[in-house]
Amino acid sequence: MTWAALLFTTLGLVFTAEASIAADRATVIWHPAKPRVGDVVWVLVKDVTDTGTVEGSVDGKPLTFFPYAGGHAALFGVDLDTKPGNHVWRVGVVEPGREPRSAEGTVRIVRRDFQVERLTVPSTMVDLDPETERRALAEGKQLATLYRTITPERIWRGKFTTPVGTMKTGTGFGARRIINGQPRSPHSGSDYSVPKGTPVIAVNAGQVALVAEFFFPGRLVVLDHGLGLHTAYFHLDTIAVVEGERVERGQTLGTVGATGRATGPHLHFGAQVAGARVDPTTLLGLTLID
Ligand SMILES: [Zn+2]
Repeated sequence: MTWAALLFTTLGLVFTAEASIAADRATVIWHPAKPRVGDVVWVLVKDVTDTGTVEGSVDGKPLTFFPYAGGHAALFGVDLDTKPGNHVWRVGVVEPGREPRSAEGTVRIVRRDFQVERLTVPSTMVDLDPETERRALAEGKQLATLYRTITPERIWRGKFTTPVGTMKTGTGFGARRIINGQPRSPHSGSDYSVPKGTPVIAVNAGQVALVAEFFFPGRLVVLDHGLGLHTAYFHLDTIAVVEGERVERGQTLGTVGATGRATGPHLHFGAQVAGARVDPTTLLGLTLID
């Protein structure tokens, strides 16, 4: 090989390497750019056709993508116990007739201060006998398993609506609770203080994944909106849907009550993304609309 040929080959390799680095990079945008603890966030990978496949993760936990706005989007839930600071994400894109692309980086999770709530409830609702304790534990596990279920079909569409049909906002998400003087697990939902009998409605289209009467949540409905998103409605007085039923946004699920561990009539409304407990208020304010 002549020196000229060697030089040409070397340059060729350099150019190839640079070109492939530039072409391989996927463009990823976070909404919001600096999420807070408890937020529902959405991630957009730009410029991917519907036939493309996008995979990704945050802290090694998988994201579930769907075609959106000329790219692919996924919801990410910042669980209320997430440590503020930088968290590592990765994305990979495979499309027919195109070089695979990838990207990785960090997203900065901003801290959020939650209130401390002191509650007094009947001691029978806190100091459980062994049998009730086992029951409550089993019910908690059943809910946790359900929330981690990823149904591959996206059922929700468009904007989310409030669960009690008023402009009233829920309160108390993330509150560190002290019940009868004892610190308990943080409040993973948002409470709507409305009169008994107020209709409770589906915040978006979904499938009824669970209808039950559990010790702490009382009469409850859980909706599966697909791709790992679930919403939960607790302490209901009556229930108007059955398991497996498809519901539309705004459809009545039941009425507000005070069943289970409740200090009075209210709706406890919860939302989870792939098992991450998120502030339902941020779900209602989601800017991803189609
Ligand atoms: Zn609650």
